[in-house]
Amino acid sequence: MSERVVSVALPIALDRGFSYAVPAEWSHAPEPGARVLVPFGARGLVGVVRAAPPEQVEGARLKLLEEALDPPGAPSLTPELVRLCEWVADYYVAPVGEVYRLALPGLLTGQDVRRAMLTEAGAAALTAARESVLTPVDGPALPTAAEQRVLAALASAPRQELAFERLSALRPRIPGVLRLLGELAAKDMVTIAWDEAGGETARVETHYRRTDFLRGTAAAEEALREHIGRSKQRRALLDMLESVAPGTWVAAGELRGPFAGYKKLMEPLLAAGLVAAEDKLRALDPFAVETLEPSSPQTPTADQKVALEVLCADADARRFSAALLHGVTGSGKTEVYLQLIAHARASGGGAIVLVPEIALTPQLSDRFRARFGETVAVLHSGLTPRQRLDAWQQIRIGARPIVIGARSAVFAPVPDLRVIVVDEEHDGSFKQEEGVRYSARDVALVRARDAEAVAVLGSATPALETYESARAGRLKWLKLTARPTARPLPAVELVGLAQHRPDPETLLTGRLRTALVETIAAGEQAILFLNRRGFATTLICDKCGALHQCPDCSAPAMTYHLGRNRLMCHWCGHIEAPPERCAACGEGELMHGSAGTERIELALVKDVPGARVLRLDRDTSRGKGLLETLAQFRRREADILVGTQMLSKGHDFPGVTLVGILHGDHGLGLPDIRAAERTFQLLTQVAGRAGRGDRPGRVLIQSYGIKHPAILCAAEHDFTGFAAWELEKRKELGNPPFGYLALVRIGGPDAVAVQRRAEELAAVVRAGAAEIRRRHDAGAAAPLQVLGPAPSAIERVNRRVRWQILLRATSRQPLRWILRQLRPRLGEAGSGEFKTMAIVDVDPQTLL
Ligand code: ADP
Ligand code: ZN
Repeated sequence: MSERVVSVALPIALDRGFSYAVPAEWSHAPEPGARVLVPFGARGLVGVVRAAPPEQVEGARLKLLEEALDPPGAPSLTPELVRLCEWVADYYVAPVGEVYRLALPGLLTGQDVRRAMLTEAGAAALTAARESVLTPVDGPALPTAAEQRVLAALASAPRQELAFERLSALRPRIPGVLRLLGELAAKDMVTIAWDEAGGETARVETHYRRTDFLRGTAAAEEALREHIGRSKQRRALLDMLESVAPGTWVAAGELRGPFAGYKKLMEPLLAAGLVAAEDKLRALDPFAVETLEPSSPQTPTADQKVALEVLCADADARRFSAALLHGVTGSGKTEVYLQLIAHARASGGGAIVLVPEIALTPQLSDRFRARFGETVAVLHSGLTPRQRLDAWQQIRIGARPIVIGARSAVFAPVPDLRVIVVDEEHDGSFKQEEGVRYSARDVALVRARDAEAVAVLGSATPALETYESARAGRLKWLKLTARPTARPLPAVELVGLAQHRPDPETLLTGRLRTALVETIAAGEQAILFLNRRGFATTLICDKCGALHQCPDCSAPAMTYHLGRNRLMCHWCGHIEAPPERCAACGEGELMHGSAGTERIELALVKDVPGARVLRLDRDTSRGKGLLETLAQFRRREADILVGTQMLSKGHDFPGVTLVGILHGDHGLGLPDIRAAERTFQLLTQVAGRAGRGDRPGRVLIQSYGIKHPAILCAAEHDFTGFAAWELEKRKELGNPPFGYLALVRIGGPDAVAVQRRAEELAAVVRAGAAEIRRRHDAGAAAPLQVLGPAPSAIERVNRRVRWQILLRATSRQPLRWILRQLRPRLGEAGSGEFKTMAIVDVDPQTLL
């Protein structure tokens, strides 16, 4: 076949590449990683050429590529990143287009977001051409008839500019319009800009603010609903604007992430006067928030020296190596990352540092900026698409060779990558739980191997997979055994809740309350930690004991929020006013169940006289609220900080000498393989918050299960003991790290359709498993187990029924073989209310 054909990844959820033919007149076929514009249905889409053979196309003639968007020899994605994307798509059974979209900033992929503007030369040429109809002149400069049509379209547009999307739509009338634009740009008759807002307005961003209209009163609730309608999204958007301090403006860039369609959602809110909008200047450099004192390297301790020698030698040798850097909080891991990266930088190498939820750990990125200054790019969720593109381009050209970010930074186009650090590598946020369900930690290892770079996984409480790899010698095991500042780990006391009844309002036992009062009297600070939000987890009927559950989900009961007097489901976002009487028996009054952070905050103010209390949870921490709350607490403007698991992330509060964990065993009861591991990690991490200053710390864990190994070991800072206990259980069941899991999830609105689809898929999987067993020698343990299909532990979320099939294998190969059989059968099926969706979660973190 003489025709040149390429496979293109398009930013759509369908799990395949699309084949296009390279136009005969193009001298080069675009290389893998290059962006191309292709016709797709009625529109033009920007995709990326894959490093994969083109798909078979039946019958219909191949469509032609419309335009190459990257210059020859300079594809947007380097070959290294193209390989990584293909690996991710294959291993995680993920839609290939969505994978490529992870690796490119939004402005470079998807819709063609360019705009074309008529220049003076273009306007003059158009006028000349029109006049030449009356007074013919000859001259080569006159645009052709087709070009004139393009220029005329621009000339009649407002501000004489048009988005490429609009121009593409002219294709039927002006064939080849995009090619013509390129030619006109070459003649300076048109300028082309990549910008989401275009021209001057790019410096301005719309900001929104909740007005006082219909705010805060219970009576307003009815009136509000009239304006909001039934949209949960719109309600949630309004709530978000309400959750920041009154009068605070929220930038459109902050809304775009959580609310993709925020503009449409906003319309009735603006019309009703519930929200005000204003265009404001935005910062052009997202990195230089404030200038920092430069910092210099510390003389390494003996442990740090050993670790650095090993890691630097591997970096110098340019060979792949992977290590677990194992040390408690404050043992000097970050200092090791900094010096390793400085070493790699000295010979021109680059580095990526992955951290859980970057917005929560500004101190960490500040330490990198203080050490490396302008060479650091901090990728955080607050960046606007334009800033993201700027950052990506600066990284790509090597202007910022050190990149810090959350999981997606693993795709950052750092040239000459030598070091990848995954800090707090056990953290659940490294796993993306929607779309492409990848683990950034595992992708980091694959990328490091491909780039022959050094990967460092740092943690005090490594994931058991990582720990087992270190024990088995697949990872180098570098231990930091002591804190360099010789500060002892805090003393941890366990308080049994069965023996010591907590106050129902504050949840404090007598011992914790006494400790709190003493701490505040000494002018020191305390953190109280509750792994829950809201005023009460649930409402319980005082007559029949029924729980008030979300009508759309079978999830744990709804959370009551005092400030808004509303019940909220944290699974689907459903919100309603609390009912007067129990819906089940129609008689009982609804009592508040156990307390949430909000109620504890209020109760503490009453119970501990003079205490200044701050609260940190997902409700108070949107946008700027989070950083502001943390800064206030660090400035000692409060004595007690009450918070959820957000507090377990690496915040450093020198004034804190007491940490109280109100309900240590919350979470242990979940029917999930990692329930004990997560509880242990959380408690250990939270306990590490105390005693980071120059005073020793004290930690009190209140819990019912004071004998549970996850709690006992956390209290004794005994990772090894916990790991031994948990690994034994995992081994018995063949769970990771002793086996490999994949979870097939099936969801949809109709229970029967979902069950039927689950059974169909299970039949495919079982047939595959039987095939494997036939090939496998009999007698040995079955290499692959199929569990299910069964309803998920949380069976309904947001009116969708959920089923699952769990695959458990003793090695990766049979699992991967079966997933390849299953792949073409995944995705959407059926239509209307019988539509079902099936996806695979490879190496799932949670089975809930
Ligand atoms: P981790 O990342 O393990 O929590 P850090 O690297 O943040 O530990 O170190 C904890 C504290 O100890 C920091 O204040 C850091 O500046 C300090 N530190 C680290 N290494 C040394 C060293 N070699 N000498 C003196 N202080 C150190
Ligand atoms: Zn719900």
